[in-house]
Amino acid sequence: MLPIVGSAGTAERSGPDAAADAAGGPVRRPVTGKRVYIPPMAYGSARAFAAAFRAIGLDAEPTPPSDNRTRELGARYTSGEECYPAKVTVGDFMRLLERPGVDPERVALFMPTAQGPCRFGQYAPYLRHILDTNGYKAVEILSPSSKNAYDGLGELAKPFVRTGWRALLCADLLQKLLLIYRPYEERRGDTEAVYEEALGDLCHTLESTPVEPGAQLRALRDSIVRGRDRFRKLAKRRGEELPLIGIVGEIFCRLNTFSNENLVRALEEYGAEAWLSDIVEWIWYTNSEHFRKLKLQGQMLSLEALGAWVRNKVQKRDEHFLLAPLADDFRGREEPDIYEILECARPYLPREGAFGEMVLNVGKAVFLARKGAAGIIDISPFTCMNGIVCEAVYPRVSRDMGGIPIRNFYFDGTQSDLDRDLGVYMELARSYQKRRG
Ligand code: SF4
Repeated sequence: MLPIVGSAGTAERSGPDAAADAAGGPVRRPVTGKRVYIPPMAYGSARAFAAAFRAIGLDAEPTPPSDNRTRELGARYTSGEECYPAKVTVGDFMRLLERPGVDPERVALFMPTAQGPCRFGQYAPYLRHILDTNGYKAVEILSPSSKNAYDGLGELAKPFVRTGWRALLCADLLQKLLLIYRPYEERRGDTEAVYEEALGDLCHTLESTPVEPGAQLRALRDSIVRGRDRFRKLAKRRGEELPLIGIVGEIFCRLNTFSNENLVRALEEYGAEAWLSDIVEWIWYTNSEHFRKLKLQGQMLSLEALGAWVRNKVQKRDEHFLLAPLADDFRGREEPDIYEILECARPYLPREGAFGEMVLNVGKAVFLARKGAAGIIDISPFTCMNGIVCEAVYPRVSRDMGGIPIRNFYFDGTQSDLDRDLGVYMELARSYQKRRG
């Protein structure tokens, strides 16, 4: 699940969309006088996304950090059939609402809407049902998308879509810096401290810069450069090349450290460097799906196709501009183009026959194996179809990639032997790396 800034309802999840902005739509009442709460799929992205809301003049912040009460309330207000991200999100929202002094009249919960087979499509209506039946009718759910003309955002939709996209992109870049630098830090905690400073700088830049596109983009690049320079000043342990472990999986569970028990950090404790699939990968995928479907419908010469093409072009340009100062830091860790991932997946799960994260996970696993990863970990919520399909395909991928260890880790809030399992897994990864030479 995720707040997404991609194409117009072409993939199983969707969200604010620039093409529809261009097409216009009924002007709705902006969600003013309320505080918008963002579910913290990824810690940095949620903070940056909240700053994007503040940039357009709305009050917003991530929900407070998850804890055991999150699980308790998630279990209490769901039936047991829902996927783990739903439980965590509902638990966080209900925990927020039970806080003393929180006025339901002044709360808007951000929960994007979606289409397709994934259960995420049911989250927003389901949350509405939970709120209504538990005395929280006054709480608003904000589910802006191109399908509902950005209900709740009114004329703020266009700057929000652009700012939200840039916020997610920049947050991904900072997270990548964190994962590249942290495993090699000389003093424990230094990298996270630097990451916090860089993220604070990014959020401040987002909310204090006018949303005029050119000025905003330049200010964000300056912020990324300041962040980069902070990371570059960190003292590094020398002469050590740690095994690289690719992390793929369901987007919420792999990025939400509460849900996955901070698996990446635990992996680093075992002496690994992680390459974690980011949020923006999903945005490129939804864009590519949009084009694929337009082609299938014979609509490549339509206004919709033109809007999609312009949006993709603008997003690519933004990415290129913001990535440029990080070329040296990301050397050898460059993210592939989405079409490269899809081609990597083709022998196992061709995109025309399979859909969504399972295609991306298998494709990225192949890509990472070719890039020299010593192993791949797939993080999925227990019972999620994506993880189950991938698990069935991975033995073949592993065979084709010289026996690279690929392992699924499932989470439902009851994991107990993660540390032991990671220790065993890292032995496999190290022996694969030695064998490979
Ligand atoms: S856990 Fe699976 S079903 Fe649930 S939102 Fe994620 S991808 Fe969809």
